[in-house]
Amino acid sequence: MKVTADQNTCCGAGQCVLLAPEVFDQREEDGIVVLLDEKPPEHLRAAVREAADMCPAGAIAVHEDT
Ligand code: SF4
Repeated sequence: MKVTADQNTCCGAGQCVLLAPEVFDQREEDGIVVLLDEKPPEHLRAAVREAADMCPAGAIAVHEDT
């Protein structure tokens, strides 16, 4: 799995951080997403998929085959 998070699309809602704090963080100044781990380990992947589904801006993309 490879994850991307588009800072230009993110609206700072923070859903991803609530779901997978090991993988996503938010910038102090404006709440925009910061990707902490673009290749998350197996035990975090379900939460990352859920974060991608829940993101109101559609800013998180998950590529399963890499
Ligand atoms: S859930 Fe989406 S919009 Fe919200 S902080 Fe994360 S990437 Fe940004």
